[in-house]
Amino acid sequence: MTDTPRISFEFFPPKTPEGREKLYKTRETLQAFEPEFFSVTYGAGGTTRDTTANIVTDMRGDGISIAPHLSFGGDNEDTVLELLNRYKEAGVNRIVALRGDMPSGMGAVAQLVYANELVAFIRRHTDDQFHLEVAAYPEIHPESESYDDDIFYLKGKFEAGADSALTQYFYNPDAYFYFIDQCQKADIDAPIVPGIMPITNFANLARFSRNCGAEIPRWLRQRMESFRDPEDIKKLGLEVVTDLCKTLLEGGAPGLHFYTMNQVSPTADILRALDIPEA
Ligand code: FAD
Repeated sequence: MTDTPRISFEFFPPKTPEGREKLYKTRETLQAFEPEFFSVTYGAGGTTRDTTANIVTDMRGDGISIAPHLSFGGDNEDTVLELLNRYKEAGVNRIVALRGDMPSGMGAVAQLVYANELVAFIRRHTDDQFHLEVAAYPEIHPESESYDDDIFYLKGKFEAGADSALTQYFYNPDAYFYFIDQCQKADIDAPIVPGIMPITNFANLARFSRNCGAEIPRWLRQRMESFRDPEDIKKLGLEVVTDLCKTLLEGGAPGLHFYTMNQVSPTADILRALDIPEA
């Protein structure tokens, strides 16, 4: 296992003042693990254009390293350029570049722009201002026609100028290691950091996983569905996800990207179980 794995934490933009206050407290606690960066998701279709940008520029003002997620959604080039300029002025130096998914009900509003095109657009207009992260899918993106296609398009994102990738979450480490092997065979040698989803509410996780194509192993589902006490779910979740992280790091993963869901404990408990030092 590497001595200091690269850690990053993902947030979503809260809708209420209470949610925002909670997020700032979460960020303060997780800051102690000295992450390489935090990131804030973006609702394609512009649904969180201002909330994402406000949180990113506010947190950047506090001096932390923070990466907005960005996609065209239905926006035109001028709107995306405006956002890029705002981020540049705020001293942001990393962006998670995505095609995104349209929120339900907005599906027919606009054609989604593939992430490789967004990466090329950002490079064309801002040169090397931003380290560009893109998404990768060890269990393959649900819309992909084939495994090889998905790797081909991931490679296209690096050829367009991406620097590294963060993966969709998964619970089967072999899916990640096989994916990395296949990427290497395709001459992709950029870091691909596994995305980690702590398990707290299993019903929500199962529903979300169906949509994004993340597989929950049968044994884990059976066990989780047999529990009546939510504390049992959290306990097994902590054990399973900590083991997953250990296996990934011992197998050479360059770091861990946590989907925090704006909560402290599920992520902090895993990091403490992994003996990641706190400042
Ligand atoms: P792409 O890389 O554009 O791929 C989309 C699909 O099209 C894939 O099936 C791919 O194989 C195929 N494809 C790619 N390029 C081409 C091409 N040139 N021609 C033909 N086919 C192609 N969603 C949000 O809405 N907001 C977020 O903030 C957000 N954050 C995320 C963070 C991470 C780390 C991850 C892993 C996902 C995130 N998502 C987010 C979800 C993501 O937007 C969806 O999975 C979306 O469906 C695909 O986005 P992408 O950037 O991977 O798309």
